[in-house]
Formats: sequence, structure tokens, C-alpha cells
Amino acid sequence: MKRQENYSLLGHNTFGMDVQTTLFVEYDTVDELRTFLQSGELTRHERYIHIGSGSNLLFAGDYQGIVMHSAIRTIEVTEETDTHVLVRVGSGYVWDDFVNHCVMQGWAGVENLSAIPGEVGASAVQNIGAYGVEVKDVIVCVEAMALDGNTRVFAKEECSYGYRDSIFKRELRGAYIVTHVTYRLEKTPTYRLDYGDLRSRVEAHGEPTLKAVRDAVTEIRNNKLPDPKILGNAGSFFTNPVIPRAKYEALKTQYPNIPSYPISEELVKVPAGWLIENAGWKGKALGRAAVHEKQALVLVNLGGATGHEVMTLAERICEDIYTMYGIRITPEVNYV
Ligand SMILES: Cc1cc2nc3c(=O)[nH]c(=O)nc-3n(C[C@H](O)[C@H](O)[C@H](O)COP(=O)(O)OP(=O)(O)OC[C@H]3O[C@@H](n4cnc5c(N)ncnc54)[C@H](O)[C@@H]3O)c2cc1C
Repeated sequence: MKRQENYSLLGHNTFGMDVQTTLFVEYDTVDELRTFLQSGELTRHERYIHIGSGSNLLFAGDYQGIVMHSAIRTIEVTEETDTHVLVRVGSGYVWDDFVNHCVMQGWAGVENLSAIPGEVGASAVQNIGAYGVEVKDVIVCVEAMALDGNTRVFAKEECSYGYRDSIFKRELRGAYIVTHVTYRLEKTPTYRLDYGDLRSRVEAHGEPTLKAVRDAVTEIRNNKLPDPKILGNAGSFFTNPVIPRAKYEALKTQYPNIPSYPISEELVKVPAGWLIENAGWKGKALGRAAVHEKQALVLVNLGGATGHEVMTLAERICEDIYTMYGIRITPEVNYV
């Protein structure tokens, strides 16, 4: 187990915030995590958080407390039939390495989720999604440890999955640490290509393959999203608001181009990126924090920005969006 006091989190958050934590603890096994939790050390500190690779976090400043991180990086097939495999993966496994592994093995289900930063543990907390797929579609169960060291297996149905949401972000926030996730992958792919220009890109190379989908998704993402190694960011900063259809129809008379995706008879989802861009924020900076010039949903650190600067920019955007459209948008990024 790695244990370091006054530790810089610069390498542990994609926003590029050079903040320190009082204590950083990284464990390699479930037993190490249990021993640490039962040592009583958590209660001796003001607060604690468990992080993955920090690609959906924004640190406001130094963290007075314990930051925990999983280095459980096991991967094992726990069931295999003619049609599918169940794969149990450690929470510290890098998500995109897992996707790559699946594609190489010919296991289908996660190829559309290629190139999403982060680790396996957070995938199940965040219910990551992209190109028409959410990870909940392939999750079978989530193994987690409570702060007293007891373990619990959550069936997918117990995780209350919603859009970028789960029980681990709400009722059980901070109460459980995800240690393993089991996914079900299919041996016969069902390609999901009806999102943007994914189909034309994939079919340009002939019959679809898992690798072609992975390559196309990776290429589109690399063109569209800023690389956190160059420009600090945490991907989509806000979630897309879901609003009553009647409200949407009223807005459409004022903004005829406002896009929407149906959710139900009464509800539609509106892309937050469109609302922000249409409000004139794309490419604008406030101090050292800015709205990305190509993708209005992404806030970036132009270099040396503090968490507070990014949060102030986000607040100003939220206020403008509410004034203009009467819609409240909320951060997808976790403030710490
Ligand atoms: C360039 C870029 C593009 C992105 N694109 C997408 C996208 O297309 N779709 C998408 O859904 N997301 C996207 N994201 C957001 C991000 O990749 C996901 O939210 C990812 O799951 C975060 O993983 P992480 O390991 O970095 O978690 P962190 O950001 O470190 O943590 C996220 C949350 O999970 C909790 N957590 C982490 N690990 C554990 C654990 N083991 N047990 C309990 N709680 C835990 C943390 O406390 C925190 O609340 C993008 C981010 C970036 C920077």
C-alpha cells in the first residue's frame, strides 16, 4: 500500500489543478483496503474522498483530508458460454485499456465507450455513456466495501442507474468504495452506429468490426475534445437538462433551431452545449478559465487556473442560461 502525506494531486486530476492532500492512500487489494478502513484513520481526518483518475473532478483548493485510490487492476473471466462472457475487473483498471482488451478478444458491448478517460470503479459510479451506449447496459453487478470493511454485491438493478447517475452518487455517496465491476459482453456484436456520423465513418472501411467502431469513436473524440494533457478539462462540464415538452415547444417559438431528444411523452432532453453556445459563451474566458472554442460544453484550464476560477465561470454560465431560457443546468463534474 502506498501512503504519502502532503501529496500533490496534479497527476490525479485532468483539470490540471496543482493541489495537495493531507494524506494519499493507494491500496492494491481488497484486504489492504479493509485493513486501512478498520484502522480508524478515516475518523481522525476532517474528510475523505475516493478518486479514480480525477477526470470528472474539480478541486476547489488543497484537500484537507484523505484521498483514497484503488490500484486493484485484476481482470478475470468468471463465466463463458457460446454467446457471452462475464468479466470481473478491478476498480483501478484503466477503463480504455479494458475496452481495448474486449475489442481484441472479440467481446462486444463497450466499443462505443472507447477513449473515455477514467477507471473501471468510476465507470460504475458515473454510469459513463457515449455514442448511444451507457455502461449500465453491460454491467451485471458492482462489488463495494462499506467504511466498516464489510463488502456488498450490488446487482445492476440495485444501483438506481440513470443518466450519468447511480446510487453511489446519491443515497450512498461516500458510503461505499467500488472494488470490482462485472460486465457482460456478447460474442456476436450488435452494432450501434446511429449516432452522429459514426455509421458513415465505420462503413467507409467496409463491414463493421469492433475494431473499426473503436477506431472511429476514438478518432471523432480526438478531433472534438481537448486533450487534458494539453488543455486541462473534465469533459462535459454540465449535464444535458431534461425539461417538460410544453416548455420546449414554447422555447422553440423563440429559438427555432433549439435541438431536443425525446425522453418520454412529456419530457425532452436539450443539449446544454447548444444552450451555452447560443448564449454566446463558446470560446469566452474569465481569468484563466474558459469555454472551449470547439465544444461549448467543455470548460478548460488555460494554464494555472484555480478551481474557484473554473467554478465562477460555471456559475456565470448557469445564471445566463437561466436568464435566457429559464432552464437550470447543473455541473456533471464533481466539485471537491
Ligand atoms: C476529455 C474527457 C472526455 C470525457 N468524455 C466522457 C464521455 O464521453 N462520457 C462520460 O460519461 N464521461 C466522460 N468524461 C468524464 C469521465 O471520463 C468519467 O466521468 C469517468 O468515469 C471518470 O473516471 P475517473 O476514474 O477519472 O473518476 P474520478 O473523476 O476520479 O471520480 C468520479 C466520481 O467517482 C467517484 N469514484 C471514483 N472511483 C471510485 C470508487 N472506486 N469507488 C467509489 N467511488 C469512486 C469519485 O468520488 C467521484 O465522485 C470525460 C472526461 C474527460 C476529461
